[in-house]
Amino acid sequence: MAENTDWTRKTAAELADALAAGETTSVEITQAHLDRIAAVDGAVHAFLHVDAEGALAQAAESDARRAAGTLLSGLDGVPIAVKDVLATDGLPTTCGSKILEGWIPPYDATVVRRLKEAGLPILGKTNMDEFAMGSSTEHSAYGATHNPWDLDRIPGGSGGGSAAAVAAFEAPLALGTDTGGSIRQPGAVTGTVGHKPTYGGVSRYGLVALANSLDQVGPVTRTVLDSALLHEIIGGHDPKDSTSIDQPLPALVEAARQGATGDLTGLKVGVITELSGDGWQPGVMARFQESVDLLVKAGAEVVEVSCPTFVHALATYYLILPAEASSNLAKFDAMRYGLRVWPHEGASAEEVMRASRDAGFGDEVKRRIILGTYALSSGYYDAYYGQAQKVRTLISRDFEAAFEKVDVLVSPTAPTTAFKLGEKLDDPIAMYLNDLATIPANLAGVPGISVPSGLADEDGLPAGFQVLAPALADDRCYRVAAALESALHAQWGGPLVPKEIA
Ligand code: GLN
Repeated sequence: MAENTDWTRKTAAELADALAAGETTSVEITQAHLDRIAAVDGAVHAFLHVDAEGALAQAAESDARRAAGTLLSGLDGVPIAVKDVLATDGLPTTCGSKILEGWIPPYDATVVRRLKEAGLPILGKTNMDEFAMGSSTEHSAYGATHNPWDLDRIPGGSGGGSAAAVAAFEAPLALGTDTGGSIRQPGAVTGTVGHKPTYGGVSRYGLVALANSLDQVGPVTRTVLDSALLHEIIGGHDPKDSTSIDQPLPALVEAARQGATGDLTGLKVGVITELSGDGWQPGVMARFQESVDLLVKAGAEVVEVSCPTFVHALATYYLILPAEASSNLAKFDAMRYGLRVWPHEGASAEEVMRASRDAGFGDEVKRRIILGTYALSSGYYDAYYGQAQKVRTLISRDFEAAFEKVDVLVSPTAPTTAFKLGEKLDDPIAMYLNDLATIPANLAGVPGISVPSGLADEDGLPAGFQVLAPALADDRCYRVAAALESALHAQWGGPLVPKEIA
């Protein structure tokens, strides 16, 4: 057994290899991550709930399976953290909201069940913007998560907890969800990898819906290969989700391994014209351009592609998302579960609902409920929601036209590096602008991955590179991202990691 190995520094693939070689046990690896959480999560606050006992019990079962030769998957025994928007049987699921404080689901989301069926111990639930609304995790009712690269800065959102946990070596893997960028933008600003699968590629059963037509569950990791490994475990058809695609996943791990050889000969890459210019941080653009040059070196042909309707993506999203969210959140009425506030004795059901929703929802959630209710109200439906759906179709057509010319589209993942905590909290529009580059993929249902592209010169903070592919071609995202990652790691002498957390 390797002495003094810090198992928290290993990738999931490396941990799986070490387990297979008998160098360690799942209990040892899981304990190392729990110790790490105990040491740094006071400063990072990536977790809302840590299940040490449950994780260690699952790890012990994995070790017993290994001894008996009955392993469940290639990642059996490798621990994982789960965003608190996914239902976990017996573990709290709050969605970062007071309204669900203390709720313990009686069932697992399909993706969580698949983790268990593959033998991955679950470390706990990660912090998030309330009901996944936000780009900084500051809208959590339980306090913000801090970026491990600079504790005074945001870790992105809404899945800042999952990204920060992985960046701070508290977990080798995490699950996130991405409705408008909540896997990819946190990935970009924490120097981690995040993939939003093709819509329908991963089950949404047991995911507390923000916007059903946009939400997808996906992997949050430190390497492209780890994302592909995790995606193959959670992905694939689920009869419990009516939007789940009934066909096999492409060979994602194989695509990542092939990409890592660094050969992209014959691949056509389109740089999206509209996703650059004013408001894009120079250091982010510089790292983006260098990454594009590396793709050329790897043999890819790069052209510029215009997607003119992308400039309307943000406005479209902020009609469709609040409309769907306002109707989804109507179920939190204090009658069936969650917070119940009695404004006075003998209060009517309606008064209890009003008082409970007033106390249970934060400002951003209320803002979007108002927006959504307005956009859906009779007389305005066609002007707002109906119109937004038409523009959404045009955005999909821009993707289709682009993918006739190129195999993948690329852009920086987010316009800036991590901003300071508090900086944009009072300015919703400034907050929304973070998702400029990620939202088009959700509107069109296509897959996208964010991979670290280096540190911006201005502030030494991570920037992200986004690769978008046609629906069902998630393998292309993995192939291109893996090629870029291997070229960059060769330059850097390995992955870039934050300084030790004091
Ligand atoms: N930041 C975006 C929003 O606030 C995206 C959220 C998400 O992907 N869950 O809606």
